Amino acid sequence: VEFLNVHKSFGDVEVLKGINLTVQPQQVVCLIGPSGSGKSTLLRCVNHLEMTTAGAILVDGRMIGYDVKGDQLMEARQSEINKRRSKIGMVFQNFNLFGHMTALENVMHGPLKLLKAPRAEAEAKARGLLGKVGLADKIGNYPSQLSGGQQQRVAIARALSMDPDVMLFDEPTSALDPELVGEVLEVMKKLARSGMTMIVVTHEMGFAREVADVVAFMDNGVIVEQGAPDDVLLHPQHERTRSFLARVS
Ligand code: ATP
Ligand code: MG
Repeated sequence: VEFLNVHKSFGDVEVLKGINLTVQPQQVVCLIGPSGSGKSTLLRCVNHLEMTTAGAILVDGRMIGYDVKGDQLMEARQSEINKRRSKIGMVFQNFNLFGHMTALENVMHGPLKLLKAPRAEAEAKARGLLGKVGLADKIGNYPSQLSGGQQQRVAIARALSMDPDVMLFDEPTSALDPELVGEVLEVMKKLARSGMTMIVVTHEMGFAREVADVVAFMDNGVIVEQGAPDDVLLHPQHERTRSFLARVS
């Protein structure tokens, strides 16, 4: 994933002010920064949930929301956007599961509806993914019958069901009771080790230190500094990073 001078405004308010960031295949990049700095907006631009105002975001070398025609930038067709979006898994703070579907049905949904996979195949894959996130015994439960940590693991399995090229996580553990955070981070660590490309917005500095290849600190719409986790988290170069880290740890 490549962010090339990405700008985003809401009305007169510019919330992304020229973001440059490269996420190599199989890398894990953790985005940290204060509330309102633009972290969620940046993630939402990746799958075109928000349109950028200027600059470009490339996923696997292609822009998700746009096509180049001659020297013109055109918004891509919706069907094309959906196709590219299906290769980008997204996990939100609040799980966003379908409440009227069991865990198994939630994970089968994408392959059945979007990939038109045969039912038996979708089910076998969903069972496998739910097993991987440690929920083999909960496949028949509805979201209301699962803990927050279990719901979030279903959400991760659901995102993986589409065989994404990259996974985006927006504070996946911040809605969880403290004792449930670990089980979700464990699943994310395993995913990272398996070679998944990941962009993770998180306040979990321990996770960032252990798992990230790159940590990027955002403040007020810019990346103030980025680099190896130990450099950014232990030896920050900028006062803004230092004062943020002092507040969160
Ligand atoms: P948090 O840590 O609280 O989740 P964040 O870093 O994710 O914060 P964003 O949600 O990206 O921050 O918001 C960045 C700025 O953009 C904020 O000032 C917010 O008010 C503004 N913003 C976000 N979405 C919209 C919108 N749809 N319309 C107008 N302003 C918006
Ligand atoms: Mg946010």
